Amino acid sequence: MENNKNLRNWLNKMDLAHPIVIAGPCSAETEEQVLKIAHQLKETDATVLRAGIWKPRTRPGNFEGVGALGLKWLQKAKEETGLMTATEVANANHVDLALKHDVDILWVGARTTVSPFIVQEIADALKGTDKIVLIKNPVNPDLALWLGAVERFYACDVKNLGVIHRGFSTYEKTRYRNNPEWQIPIDLQNKFPDLPLILDPSHIAGRRDIIFELCQTALDLNYDGLMVETHFDPDKAWSDAEQQITPATLKQMTIDLRIRKQEG
Ligand code: PEP
Ligand code: MN
Repeated sequence: MENNKNLRNWLNKMDLAHPIVIAGPCSAETEEQVLKIAHQLKETDATVLRAGIWKPRTRPGNFEGVGALGLKWLQKAKEETGLMTATEVANANHVDLALKHDVDILWVGARTTVSPFIVQEIADALKGTDKIVLIKNPVNPDLALWLGAVERFYACDVKNLGVIHRGFSTYEKTRYRNNPEWQIPIDLQNKFPDLPLILDPSHIAGRRDIIFELCQTALDLNYDGLMVETHFDPDKAWSDAEQQITPATLKQMTIDLRIRKQEG
């Protein structure tokens, strides 16, 4: 890839903290919930508020997101706090709606990255955009699918790209919800050395007690950022309750991570 060097530009240009900290609930639930979390995150190292609006639930019958209505809440949270906003898009219509509501960062979810047709549709909808687009690894440990998604966006002149490492499915039970397979993002970085790499410890862990150690490993490996699911009342979250941490825990965690990094 000839223009590799440009890929990290958005991170440098936007004067975002490095490592960048993206935080917020798995799902936007109510306007009050989004605004409350945003204001609490404003007091932490997070500079970007994440919230899922359309939720790709593996099986039907669970909460599937509030839909486009939630985009207004993100917009309001941005106005009130100055945090940038991020949400998942899974088709061209989502892209259209997210752009209309001025979402700053769009991410492609793990269940979408496995589908070249949908990836292509989303990349086409974003042709030439300056928006930041983050591509999660596919659910399965397939480097080629992840690379292919990056290449499809790059071919559509989407330059402000990054990738999110959220772990990989395994049939056998491990201590992780999704096995980290640290070598896969390293192999991806070998192909695209200037592509910002962000860790999503929440979907790797599936539980809150190992979020810290995953983040420390990522920082030791020079990751560019963290995306951490955060809720003021994690146990009552409408999705992924077991893995969310409070904004207060996030605040302490980033302090401790820094200290450990300096000491190390
Ligand atoms: C999420 O970020 O809430 C999510 C659904 O993630 P993933 O695509 O990694 O499962
Ligand atoms: Mn989630």
